[in-house]
Amino acid sequence: MNWSISKQAIKYYYRTIIQKKKLYRNPTYLEIAITDFCNLTCSLCSQATPLQNDKKTMSFNEIERISKFFKPYEFDRIKISGGEPTLHPEFAKISRHLNNLFPAEKYILATNGKKLKKYINDVDIYDVIDLTNYPGLNDNTYQELLEFDLPYLNQTKEEYAELDDVNLKNNTHKKNIYKSCSFTFTKKIVQSRIYACCISFGQSIRQNFDRNEVSVPIDKNWRENIRKLELESHCRNCWVKVNTSKFIPKKELKRAYVI
Ligand code: SF4
Ligand code: SF4
Repeated sequence: MNWSISKQAIKYYYRTIIQKKKLYRNPTYLEIAITDFCNLTCSLCSQATPLQNDKKTMSFNEIERISKFFKPYEFDRIKISGGEPTLHPEFAKISRHLNNLFPAEKYILATNGKKLKKYINDVDIYDVIDLTNYPGLNDNTYQELLEFDLPYLNQTKEEYAELDDVNLKNNTHKKNIYKSCSFTFTKKIVQSRIYACCISFGQSIRQNFDRNEVSVPIDKNWRENIRKLELESHCRNCWVKVNTSKFIPKKELKRAYVI
């Protein structure tokens, strides 16, 4: 037997298991959806934004109020998203104060980029501006933004046909899906509630189920309460393809940190 390979395999096994448990119990990635509406209508929107009736924003004061419930915990990454976050009337103010409200190692902005020119001088806080191309809807946006020389502008080069089909059900016959899904490492705030994964809010709109089943109010007990949620039945109807084997493929581990 080649012992060096076996030792490596054992090390890899424990490293991924421990990492997974740690990430599952102590989420270090937080996404904050500051708007519930968008200026595009992508049919495969994972947040089901075009289907939403609410069209709400989270005010700066509300974001400031909830931020105190996250101060006791360390976050590696904070992502600002929506809907489309640059449509928020206080987007510049929120971005300017983000560092004080939610201290983190890295800040990410998820945007379709259509309104980003207006905020070129307000986005220094972000380490990554994640601009997804939705063919036919924002084809020229990335090229137009290149003139501003934003070193951290990142375009997701996906063809529309390659975007995940959010209408599929990829986990119907699997078990322990929630505890295996790398999307659970990212908790998501929408309308002053926190969701057990970054996809479940969109799913609640698309599949019309009660949001209380996948989210809890933000208060001092949010971490304990979110662990009590049972998402398994919703995971079975989810489009995210979850690998339920004990190992986390490197690609998924990377996604847990990079989404
Ligand atoms: S740009 Fe993003 S948030 Fe807006 S509809 Fe498309 S996928 Fe949804
Ligand atoms: S399978 Fe879907 S609903 Fe379940 S945790 Fe993963 S992303 Fe969320």
